[in-house]
Amino acid sequence: MDQFDVDLFVIGGGSGGVRAARIAAGHGAKVRIAEEYRMGGTCVIRGCVPKKLFVYAARFAHEFEDAAGFGWSVEGARFDWATLVANKDKEITRLEGAYSANLDRSGVEIVRQRATVEGPHAVRLADGTEVTARFILIATGGRPNRGLDFPGCELGITSNEIFHLERFPERIVIQGAGYIALEFASLLAGLGAKVTVVHRGDKLLRGFDEDIRDRIVDEMAQNGVEFEFGVTIESIHAEASEKRVRLNDGRDLFADEVMLAIGRVPNTIGLGLDTVGVHLDEAGAIAVDGLSRTNIPSIYAVGDVTNRANLTPVAIREGHAFADTVFGKHPWHVTYDNIPTAVFAEPEIGTVGLSEQEARAQGRRLDIYQTDFRPLKATLSGRTSRVFMKIVVDQADDRVLGVHLIGEGSGEMVQMAAIAMNVGATKTDFDRTMALHPSSAEELVTLR
Ligand code: FAD
Ligand code: NDP
Repeated sequence: MDQFDVDLFVIGGGSGGVRAARIAAGHGAKVRIAEEYRMGGTCVIRGCVPKKLFVYAARFAHEFEDAAGFGWSVEGARFDWATLVANKDKEITRLEGAYSANLDRSGVEIVRQRATVEGPHAVRLADGTEVTARFILIATGGRPNRGLDFPGCELGITSNEIFHLERFPERIVIQGAGYIALEFASLLAGLGAKVTVVHRGDKLLRGFDEDIRDRIVDEMAQNGVEFEFGVTIESIHAEASEKRVRLNDGRDLFADEVMLAIGRVPNTIGLGLDTVGVHLDEAGAIAVDGLSRTNIPSIYAVGDVTNRANLTPVAIREGHAFADTVFGKHPWHVTYDNIPTAVFAEPEIGTVGLSEQEARAQGRRLDIYQTDFRPLKATLSGRTSRVFMKIVVDQADDRVLGVHLIGEGSGEMVQMAAIAMNVGATKTDFDRTMALHPSSAEELVTLR
């Protein structure tokens, strides 16, 4: 061991890197972690956490409107962007500090600068220092895809910048129809912006169950989000007080900001991987096996840089499994079945397991149970949005293969459904579970 400066050098202080560093240190390893921006990574600094805080802020708009039917008068409600951004920044700074403190407490040494791979056992820091390590873990995450090169594309912002805008964008055009586009379209509309989503395809959320894809567009349109399908942005031109967005069908849209939410790319460029010969896949992500091993025995990679399932809990678990496997004498694989996810749009989507289309493509015979109802709260609030639930069941053994939900609380519900599916729940198991009344979730156990 002493031939190296450290047992483990982690590059990237995000969800995966921090977990791996702490667990490895707990197993007695000497660990150093490099972070070039802010400790906590995408999720904490400019992803899940600030996004969800903005989602909460946006949902007050509906709450204030809905309150009237329940006898409340909410007068003079005003939204102040600067207050939200400042309070969010304070919380993110607190969390960043907590991440650093937890690493310190675990005995992990933090290096606040960029690191690149210099050899199978060597890392080079931005200040020129070389550090040798028995193992290197690459956990550098991803970044917004800016790979479009139409005129004016540099005027577009991404999810990185949106958290720090000085002025609230009263009108915004968002290109893309994935998680980030729909979450920001919903939350900015909730906060009062005029939002137009521009998408090259004819449906939102590729890969989701078709019923969810059909319904989410209607629901978001009811909340005032406008959609332009089958078009892309051809140019952005800065005018005196606004941006002119030219679509490829010749029409112009005008906005304060244009957001590009067209996917994320793994952070592998300039990391020194080519000099060491670490294999990448065709998407530029680091190719790893089930134990997060690259083709170089001393180099591992976890999280978004490997482009497996680009979600925080997945990165955390991959980091944990790596540390237990390499330093804890307890090898284990991450299981990628039944990963629940939510799209924190308005309304929220929760989904786990196979879509009906995926299950049919596997040649399975299915029973589909679904419901579409007006939630109890809407009877007094007057809100027209509906809740949709769908359970995909394998006819062969009655096993629940997928649960797909739209409506308030869908993310919370689907986490529980994922537990049931992981223990192999059948539709009969759902049915013999007593309903919790009155709730939306009870529909999941009363579907016929
Ligand atoms: P990251 O968290 O990206 O961390 C990588 C770190 O490495 C970064 O801090 C970076 O600065 C650092 N780094 C990169 N290169 C170097 C280098 N050479 N030297 C030193 N440091 C370096 N997931 C969810 O599960 N739920 C959500 O609700 C959700 N919302 C999201 C919202 C947005 C807007 C975005 C962008 C993402 C969201 N995600 C969400 C995805 C989630 O943030 C990522 O899957 C997760 O952060 C991946 O963790 P990671 O450790 O792989 O990488
Ligand atoms: P997604 O991959 O979800 O969506 C990308 C969107 O951009 C798609 O609609 C895609 O269209 C479109 N697109 C891609 N390339 C182009 C192009 N060249 N021109 C025009 N449109 C294009 O990416 P996101 O950026 O929304 O999110 C990245 C990942 O981050 C997610 O997949 C998820 O893993 C994670 N995330 C998770 C969240 C959560 O758990 N709540 C929230 C936010 C992010 P098409 O469908 O035609 O391919």
